[in-house]
Amino acid sequence: MPTTINGIGTTYFGKKNVESYSSACESCGQVTTLSDYETGYYICILFIPVIPLGRRMILGQCAMCTRHRVMPLKEWETIKEESISQGIDQLSSNVDDSNKALELLGTYTAFKQYDEAKQLALATGKSHPGNYDVQLALGGWFEEMSMAQEADECFQRCLNIDFDCPSSKRIRCITHLEQQQLTEGEAIALELFAQDPVSQIGPMLMLVTAFESHGQDAQAYKTYQRIVAGVPEIKEDKEFCKPIRKLEKKLGVTESIVPKRGFFGLFG
Ligand SMILES: [Zn+2]
Repeated sequence: MPTTINGIGTTYFGKKNVESYSSACESCGQVTTLSDYETGYYICILFIPVIPLGRRMILGQCAMCTRHRVMPLKEWETIKEESISQGIDQLSSNVDDSNKALELLGTYTAFKQYDEAKQLALATGKSHPGNYDVQLALGGWFEEMSMAQEADECFQRCLNIDFDCPSSKRIRCITHLEQQQLTEGEAIALELFAQDPVSQIGPMLMLVTAFESHGQDAQAYKTYQRIVAGVPEIKEDKEFCKPIRKLEKKLGVTESIVPKRGFFGLFG
């Protein structure tokens, strides 16, 4: 990290190719905006950058605590080129290997080569229409890229391959909730949650959101009660408890299903 004393020291100057995204900070753990960008590293005198020390790649700079990782830009470019060409070599030596295709997709994405990544994702989806895991992985990837139509096509292929496995049930549940079919969505969410509470909290929380957006607060609260009953340790999670207390206040519930806030919580 650059430091200056009485205006003399080192500093970053300038920002190029800024990529911002929402994620948890490695240092402070808060979910916030992180940024990757290229910058110049300089020796500065009286706060003015005067001697360039080379370009740097800043990774994951946190909007809250400003901490980040840094590496020389040249080194970053080298790693990027090597990783990508290695991925391409491995895939071209066996073009039918869907794992190699997904690995290369991950590499393209990590290095923000989105155009190449999209081409590869579309091609991989077409070459493996009957491979459930590939379609599921691609569906999730397209969703992350905000390519809803492509994502839906992959998820639809999953349903065509195996309609009743847990992942397919999850797809159907989320689709129902997105289409405001709360009764159908709830039935599947409850079924999944009963089978594997810890890993199926996601659909239950989506259900809560759906009920609340329809003004069905009592149903939302009932869903929270079910989550707490199925996964009691979730009560330790402050962020999980906050909206529950809010909803309890709204509904006039006097006996909370989550622990009372501690002394310090009074200020939170
Ligand atoms: Zn941070």
